[in-house]
Amino acid sequence: MSLNPLQQYYLQQMGINVYLQRMEKPDNTDDVVAEPSSTFDSVAWETLRREVATCGKCELYKGRTQTVFGVGNPQADWLIIGEAPGAEEDRQGEPFVGRAGKLLNAMLLAIGLQREEVFIANILKCRPPNNRDPRPEEVASCKNYLRIQIEMVQPRIILAVGRVAAQNLLETDTPIGRMRGQRYQYADTGIPVVVTYHPAYLLRSPGEKRKAWQDLQTALKIYRESE
Ligand code: SF4
Repeated sequence: MSLNPLQQYYLQQMGINVYLQRMEKPDNTDDVVAEPSSTFDSVAWETLRREVATCGKCELYKGRTQTVFGVGNPQADWLIIGEAPGAEEDRQGEPFVGRAGKLLNAMLLAIGLQREEVFIANILKCRPPNNRDPRPEEVASCKNYLRIQIEMVQPRIILAVGRVAAQNLLETDTPIGRMRGQRYQYADTGIPVVVTYHPAYLLRSPGEKRKAWQDLQTALKIYRESE
């Protein structure tokens, strides 16, 4: 099998270069670049961004430096959804920064996606103190923002990153290990959802990176089938 040098580099960053020898080549990765949609309402998008920035619908507004609306291409085919901002995300106003963010970037690049091509958002837009799990009432308060984002982005696939994102997005308490490898859909939209581990978890448990690579392959396959 042959991968281009860039893909090889990023797969090595994920720590799966050896395993890759047995995996299918992620060919034709150029086709995962989003086509701009002529129907996207950028005014409504900015209005939503401003609404989130001043939101006080749950207690988390008190401790935030700023809200973390999301980053990337709002007309992306791929929507990546994580849990909530951590300390660095709260400081920078951007999801998935720091070491976990770098690993996420490497995971995306391994299937031919630049960070700028996808849209990345979280279940919560404000940082929970001490990185604790989001509380149900916080998720309920924030849920509508994400729902509107999903409706506006109209992604062809959602990658739910980590247990908290997956369970809240799909409204289930199924353990993440059992959610992997399945094709779910978001609400009744028909948008496929694939679940994988959070890069922060992968940094703590590098042995699981191979499973994350399998998940990315599953997501890519489902994405291509949606064409
Ligand atoms: S977490 Fe969501 S609902 Fe709570 S204050 Fe922040 S933006 Fe508003």
